Amino acid sequence: MSKAVVVRRRKVPGVLNGSPWIYPNALLDVPDTAGTYPVRTDGGDHLGVCDFNPAAPIPGRILTRAKSLDNEEEWLTEAIHHAINRRLRLGYQIQGGAFRMVNGEGDGLPGLVIDMFGRTMVADCYSRGMRDRMPLIEKVLSETLGDCPLLLRMGADAAKREGIDPIDPPVATISFAENAVVFDVALGSDQKSGFYLDQRDNRRLAARWASGRQVLDLFCYHGAFALGCLAGGAKSALAVDSSEKALSAAQANATRNGLALDVLPADVFDALGELHEVGPFDLIICDPPKLAPGKRDKNKGLKAYRYLIDKCLGLLPPGGILLVSSCSQAIGEDDMRKLIMQQAAKKQMYADVIAVSGHPADHPWPIGFETGRYLSTVAVMSRGPW
Ligand code: SAH
Repeated sequence: MSKAVVVRRRKVPGVLNGSPWIYPNALLDVPDTAGTYPVRTDGGDHLGVCDFNPAAPIPGRILTRAKSLDNEEEWLTEAIHHAINRRLRLGYQIQGGAFRMVNGEGDGLPGLVIDMFGRTMVADCYSRGMRDRMPLIEKVLSETLGDCPLLLRMGADAAKREGIDPIDPPVATISFAENAVVFDVALGSDQKSGFYLDQRDNRRLAARWASGRQVLDLFCYHGAFALGCLAGGAKSALAVDSSEKALSAAQANATRNGLALDVLPADVFDALGELHEVGPFDLIICDPPKLAPGKRDKNKGLKAYRYLIDKCLGLLPPGGILLVSSCSQAIGEDDMRKLIMQQAAKKQMYADVIAVSGHPADHPWPIGFETGRYLSTVAVMSRGPW
């Protein structure tokens, strides 16, 4: 049995550029069992030490480029301290608001994501290696941050991919503030870690533009965009989602903050045909779920975006703003700009780009690891017809 993961050098161009992922087609000679092993090329070059799981679609995730990883606790402590310190340097407040404390590959901890909400942490595993070291992660976090509550989680999809059992944490409801709005969120029970932290900076942008506007928040989840806009002085906000549970959380958050939110339970793709009867809306946010989960779904995803953008631009008066996001890695900023350009040209309307952005600084991704860059947002302002 091999005691190392041996890869074909020409099949790991990404790894040579800084990506931590080793795909199955690169594997030449591998251990029989999952574990932590050194990685070598067929030419004998040492590439680092990885978590290896022969059953997973991404069988290798490089943990360090160092020669060896003899003391896992030391390595983990250093990586977690580094992740926390870099956030402090970036202006985030530990145990203050909500932010992402560890962003997997982008913090040298592939397969581990930790979000912090007030004093409560939610740790999400995406690999067997990280799941196996959960007791160690728990120990390092408690030594580093004291007695902050920690919820451990491994979602059903990730667990299935890795060939292990999921972890369902007990539900904990916590409160935290974002851009002047206080949210109550049932952590651990729901989508992601309970809240879409990756859109925080875009919500701040929308709130800054919202004064006096009539807002339409499509795919609203807990209404974070709409509530931020109302707190920013919007005249009204209508939040649309197909999930009744998400809408009742949105409504409860509105009440908690003394904000008047209108909600519409509906499939956005159906509702968009009739929303001109409800409007007008001069700030439209469109933040759908992954419409192209993989590269193979790209055309299907583009078709769905084409429809959404066409309908949203159709609702927009001169001076109106449309902010569209894609959380599908396969549909990036260039695709979004092209779609908006094509649909605006078809309608013969002036549309000027006022913002292009992605995820915030607490969601870093290694420069050689495009897979880590999944959120693309484009905002345009209409100048009326040609
Ligand atoms: N903008 C939100 C996050 C959106 S997540 C935020 O800032 O927090 C995507 C949301 O789309 C989920 O709440 C999901 O319930 C909803 N959704 C998925 N498909 C939908 C559809 N066809 N119509 C309406 N809502 C949908």
